[in-house]
Formats: sequence, C-alpha cells, structure tokens
Amino acid sequence: MNYPDRFDVIVIGGGHAGTEAALASARMGCQTLLLTHNIETLGQMSCNPAIGGIGKSHLVKEIDALGGAMGLATDLGGIQFRVLNARKGPAVRATRAQADRVRYKAAIRSMLENQPNLTIFQQAAGDLIVDNDTVRGVETETGIRFHGESVVLCTGTFLGGVIHIGLNQSRGGRAGDPPSNALAERLRALPFRVDRLKTGTPPRLDAKTVDFSHLEEQPGDSPTPVMSYLGNRGMHPRQMSCHIAHTNTQTHDIILKNLDRSPMYSGVIEGIGPRYCPSIEDKVHRFADKSSHQIFIEPEGLDTNELYPNGISTSLPFDIQLQVVRSIKGLENAHITRPGYAIEYDFFDPRDLKHSLETKFIHNLFFAGQINGTTGYEEAGAQGLLAGLNAARRAKALEAWWPRRDEAYLGVLVDDLITMGTKEPYRMFTSRAEYRLLLREDNADLRLTETGRELGLVNETRWDAFSQKRDAIERENQRLAATWVQPNTPAAERLGEKTGKALTREYRLSDLLRRPELTYADIATLPGIEGEAVDNDAVTEQVQIQAKYQGYIDRQQDEIDKLKRHEATPLPDSLDYQRVEGLSNEICQKLIEARPATLAQAARISGVTPAAVSVLLIHLKKRR
Ligand code: FAD
Repeated sequence: MNYPDRFDVIVIGGGHAGTEAALASARMGCQTLLLTHNIETLGQMSCNPAIGGIGKSHLVKEIDALGGAMGLATDLGGIQFRVLNARKGPAVRATRAQADRVRYKAAIRSMLENQPNLTIFQQAAGDLIVDNDTVRGVETETGIRFHGESVVLCTGTFLGGVIHIGLNQSRGGRAGDPPSNALAERLRALPFRVDRLKTGTPPRLDAKTVDFSHLEEQPGDSPTPVMSYLGNRGMHPRQMSCHIAHTNTQTHDIILKNLDRSPMYSGVIEGIGPRYCPSIEDKVHRFADKSSHQIFIEPEGLDTNELYPNGISTSLPFDIQLQVVRSIKGLENAHITRPGYAIEYDFFDPRDLKHSLETKFIHNLFFAGQINGTTGYEEAGAQGLLAGLNAARRAKALEAWWPRRDEAYLGVLVDDLITMGTKEPYRMFTSRAEYRLLLREDNADLRLTETGRELGLVNETRWDAFSQKRDAIERENQRLAATWVQPNTPAAERLGEKTGKALTREYRLSDLLRRPELTYADIATLPGIEGEAVDNDAVTEQVQIQAKYQGYIDRQQDEIDKLKRHEATPLPDSLDYQRVEGLSNEICQKLIEARPATLAQAARISGVTPAAVSVLLIHLKKRR
C-alpha cells in the first residue's frame, strides 16, 4: 500500500547516524520519517556504553555545536566523566563519558519523540523505490510504500549481518536483532562497490560475581566535566567508578591454545576488523611479547549489575570465553551474562559518495554511519547529521553544505572517506587532522554554531547561550588587551610574588596571560586594576587558550589562507610530478593520470591531501 502522506526526507535506521540525520532534517523544517526496525532500540549502543574519547569527543562537540543530540544525551545519561590527556595541550584533550545504556537511549528517544516535523515508524525497510537513477522512496518488508524527496540510509552493521561465536554462526544485525537481508540484496544489485568488515564485542559480566577488592578503582574527574555546550553538572545522574583488571600469562596461554577455534584465525571471518579496537585474541597474537593487557571494568548503568569488560572483545567459543574471564584476578568466579561475539557486515565504498554524503550513482540517496566503513557512535552521529542536513537541503532544492578540513573533524572524516576510502573500520583520531590546534574540542561551538544557525540547525535556546558566551569572550579579550600593569605597583608586586621575577616595564594583561607560568586566575583580578574577572569557566577557558596559543593558531591560519590564495595557481603541462620532492608514489601517479590544470583541481582529486597540495606549491615556487 502507498502511505498517504509524502515526506521530504526518509531516514532508514534509528541508530546513532539515523537519529542525528532525522533530527537534523526535522530541525530544518522538513517533514521527516524515521523508519526503523524497532522503536525500543532507538539510540541503542551496540557495544560499549561510552561516548567520546580522543578524536571522538571532538566529533560529539561538533554535533552538539550544530544542534545535534549526542552531547546532551551523554550529559543526561553519563555516569562517569573524565578528561583524557588533561596534562597535554588543548588540541588533544578529550572528554570521555561512561553512559548508562538505558538512560542514554531514553534521552535520545525523548528528543526524537518531541521533535516537531518528525514521524517515527517501526518496520524493516526492504526495498528502495528508484526511478531513472533517482530514489523516490522506500518500501517496507511488509509492502508499505513511503514516498520522499530524499532518503538517508543508516543501517549500521545490519546489512547481511552474520554473528560469530566460535565456529557457530547465525544471522543478525547485532545480538538480539534481525539482519537486514532484503535491503542488502537490493543494494548489491545497484552499482555500488560493496565489501565486508567485522567488529566484535566482549562478554558481559555480573557485578555480584566480581571481587572488586582485587581491582584498581578509577573514579571520574572532579569537578565533573560536561559534554554538551548546553549541558551542566546538574543534569548528570549519580556518578560511578570504573575499575581496572589485567590479563596474565595464563589468560594468554588459554587464548593461544584455542586460536584454531576462533573464526578469525580459522579463516571463517573474511571481513577486516578495527585495528585500533582489536579483539583479545588479536592483541595476544600480535603483541606476543606482552605478558599482560589492561581491562577496564565499566558499569553498564546505575540500575543493572551488568559490567562491560573493555579490552576483551572476542569471538572465541563460549567455553573459552569463560576460561579467559576466570583466569583474571578478581574475576575468578565471574558469571558471564552475555557471550562476546564478532559480527561481519556489508559496507559500501565511501569513494562512491560526494562530500554531501549523497551517492554518486543514485540521486537523492545518502549514506551515513557504519554503512560507509566507519566504526563508532560518534563517527556515525556526525555523518548522520551531515547527511540529514544535505538530504533536507536537497528536498528544499538548496546547494549541499559540508565543512572543510580546516573547519571541523567532520570535514576531515568525510574528506578522508570519500577521497581515500577505507580498507578497515575507520575511526577518528586527532592525528588525522592537519589543523589540530584550530579544531579543538573546546571551540567546536565557536567554529560551527554560527554556520549551524544559518543552516537552520540551531534553535533559539542554543543560539542565545552561544551568543552570550561569544560576546563575553570578546569583551574579556578587549579588557585584557586594554588594561596595563605598571611596574612598582601592588599589582606588579603580586605578579612578582607569583613568578619570582619583578616586572621591569609596563605590560598589558593579555601579554602577561601569554606567559606559561601565569593563568587567567593569576591576572584576572589584581589590586588596583580595574575590571572584574569573568566567573564562567567556559569563557575563561577560551580567553586563556586563545592567549596562550595565539602564535601557533595564527601560524596554522596563515597556512590555510596561503593554500586558499593559491588555489588558482596553474600547474604547467610540463610539470614532472616524479621530480616533486615529498609526494608519495600513489599521489604522484594520480596527478600524472589526471593532469590537473590548477592547484584547486589537484586538491579535488581523490587521495590528494592538503599536505600534498602544500608540497606542490613549494615546488612551484622553487621552479620560478
Ligand atoms: P547502528 O547503531 O548499527 O544502527 C543501525 C540502525 O538501523 C538500527 O537501529 C537498526 O535496527 C536499523 N536498521 C537496520 N536495517 C534496517 C532496515 N532495513 N529497516 C529499518 N531499520 C533498519 N564501535 C566502536 O567504536 N567500538 C567498538 O568496540 C565497537 N564494537 C562493536 C561491536 C559490535 C558487536 C557491534 C554490533 C558494533 C560495534 N561498534 C563499535 C560499532 C558501533 O556500534 C557502530 O559504529 C555504531 O552503532 C554505528 O552507528 P549506525 O547508526 O551507523 O548503526
């Protein structure tokens, strides 16, 4: 049957990509349908209940800066918050939260249910309605046809999903959920390049059977960090500690003796797994010289005894999983509540997508999340937001939008995927970004919220909060730049006591703040100096970071401006790419084949990185 209402945008899949896509499209005023297998699993975390971490929290904050849900849901569901790399520079600092699985999911569902313009429907999508290379809608497995201007596919690990526990296999999208086979077959018939990837999860444990006296306690940070720019500590539920356990040589012996019963090592699994989140059998095999690996024993929530042992993801058979767990100090009597498993699934080569995440072969069809070869909730959510935004813009006949690599990790993620593709599950790291110092987690709102507002993604509440913060930063920067400290005054004496050095001439407060030994608190209120210190951590953090890193930030900005200025620079026909120092062979071959006319054209060739464009520019200058 044809459903009577037409939609502007149809999103398939209510995971992390699908929920952000549906919310973004609806926030932009488009009539949006979210079609998902099961309403109870909206926003479900398939693996560990944690959001953020290095590179990933940058994405969460960018989603948040663009009005998305993940950051707020984390503040509403987070039961342990920490800042990683707290002692390192701000570019690599990252917030990580352990989430209560049930509370996180409830927060996402509540945001979806209360979002104007959004309709939710529980059914499996079985087919796409395609007409002349343009998608026109979706048909469910029971034959209900929904028509829409654009469609966003966010089906995660479900396409052709096969679950492995030892040498046992079953079909599934993740434990307890059906696979998406009809849709997988339909997509395989379209001209996309498709391949298989795999990922895995550890067995879960019953806390009543764990001896915590042998584990090291790891409490959250105090004061508790906050994830969303609109979040606050008052939103957090009760906080809990995680614990640390260790594998030992006995654990490793058990694993090595039974590798032939692992589907990965016996050749049953063909898909490639995430290199940076390997299974315990991978770790023991690859790092044979290590006698112990850390395991973080993380609570799954406030109202459950289940624990997530982070670090022993495995697809070994259940009897071996039990031996592995019970060989670990503190877990000798542990009961496994759910076995660990690996899952293999179809993903589509992201090089078949445009920057907007629209597919190159079927107009108005967008892909986001794990279907594009990524792993992680944050990577999925960020793509979902972008795809939902562009699906909505397509429905409104507007040009696509995406952030550049120097504007957002989301820009880096999408550019990496569509230009280079991926052979293994792609996850975000700060090292993937060329302009790390500009793309900090603390300034995602300053980078993106104004654009988000123009795009129609940011509501009034967020815009007001952001504008107040931005203006307060500006005012305080102006005060510090206009306020002088004279030598031989009480203010100078106070600073002298602090630094052990007397001030020998007058200084602006902004210059003093650049000194490594002085903090904002040291210079903000000094005797006899006018003006009051700002009492807002988010504002003072920005004022301090902007002052201390201004030199480096300016240098990165110059580099970006220089590249932009030279985009029209011609690349002469006579240019011998093989003689350009610093170009990789792969990029060299691509340039020889494509023979771009300008630097801008070179930069758009799939796989030609900004670093390679910089190398070309230097070479051209030397030639002159
Ligand atoms: P999903 O979260 O998988 O959501 C897909 C949604 O689409 C589901 O709601 C599903 O019901 C729905 N759906 C699918 N097909 C249809 C259809 N035909 N019709 C209607 N609805 C449909 N990430 C990490 O970062 N680290 C890890 O260690 C890790 N381990 C993992 C282990 C396992 C076993 C699994 C399954 C995943 C793991 N992940 C891990 C990945 C993480 O879960 C995903 O990256 C993330 O959930 C992807 O989000 P998504 O929105 O793309 O897809």
